[in-house]
Amino acid sequence: MEKEAALKILSDLIAIPSVNGQEALVADYLTTLFHKYPVQIERVNYAPKRDNLVVTIGNHGPLLGFSGHEDVVDAGAIADWDHPPFQATMQNGRLYGRGASDMKSGLAAMVVAMLDLLESGKPLAGRLRLLASVGEETGEYGAAQLTQAGYADDLQGLVIGEPTDLQVRISHKGVIDYKLESNGKSVHSSQPELGKNAILPLIDFIQKTQTVLAQDDQIDPTLGALTHVISQIQGGSQINTVPAHAWMTGNIRTIPAYPNEMVMQQLNEIVAQLNQQGAQLSLTYSYPEPPLPTQANTALAQLALQVLQQQFNLNSQLTVGTGATDASEYYHVPNLPIIILGPADGVSDHQPNEFVSIDKYLRGCQFYRTFAENFWQRFS
Ligand SMILES: [Zn+2]
Repeated sequence: MEKEAALKILSDLIAIPSVNGQEALVADYLTTLFHKYPVQIERVNYAPKRDNLVVTIGNHGPLLGFSGHEDVVDAGAIADWDHPPFQATMQNGRLYGRGASDMKSGLAAMVVAMLDLLESGKPLAGRLRLLASVGEETGEYGAAQLTQAGYADDLQGLVIGEPTDLQVRISHKGVIDYKLESNGKSVHSSQPELGKNAILPLIDFIQKTQTVLAQDDQIDPTLGALTHVISQIQGGSQINTVPAHAWMTGNIRTIPAYPNEMVMQQLNEIVAQLNQQGAQLSLTYSYPEPPLPTQANTALAQLALQVLQQQFNLNSQLTVGTGATDASEYYHVPNLPIIILGPADGVSDHQPNEFVSIDKYLRGCQFYRTFAENFWQRFS
């Protein structure tokens, strides 16, 4: 495919404002690109206007998966952007727009690679399946749905096109977001003994979690330690009233050696203990995602490194990340090797003036195609 055509696909994707909840528009667009070829296209509806898309090319041979999410984060304040967020602008070797890095460049490069393979007219030596997911930015529930529906069961390897600057990411932390609500009894603050202060149990909870989570001396050799951030806290209504209601949220980044289940069990025990002592706390979690344990020793990761070094002359490394990806869901498929490898560098993710280097994007298109061909050869 000509450079211009490859850039047009990325620009078209950026022009679709697929902020969480509008992913069907991306599925529609991708369908139009593939429909003239003999491929298998399946839409997997998650909710109104929210469709995952699965496109499989090739008829026999080893099956490699390509994964990209269709959603992007909100543009934020438009005034902070030098260019319109939902219109690709090319300047000084960069392409700007919401999703240019995270991760419409990865998704577009995977699609370009597949179209190039189809357009070559040669019989394919294996199969490729694109898994385009909804809702990655808010909880990986598109990937969860595709995993549960079995779309990853027959894959022999999976590449996730999140930004890695063409490095091979082989592990990342998991995530636990939680909200803790506290109820008390409101009275005049001159007679606090008649009321129940909803803020105090939150302070007890914070102190106990700091001690408990810090006690575990598990450190992952590459990911480091678990981290815990108290991210929001609110309570009370005025200065001379005992607060009847308070809440807080926290964000925990987990490691394989200290898994999500263990952390959540410890938090639940702290809450149960405080409630026994008279607090009225309720703890809820939103979309906890497990960490991706290291894939360093898989043939998939080694092959990616080899292709980048030998065929693209890139000094690529095995790296790890702190943020969760759709890999947290696809990892539930037994024995599925997964790597994260995308063309963008990720430095401008979720920020105004998000961009991708045009050269890196075009190299990504070539890499995905070359990697698929090498994968088919290696695993046939
Ligand atoms: Zn992303």
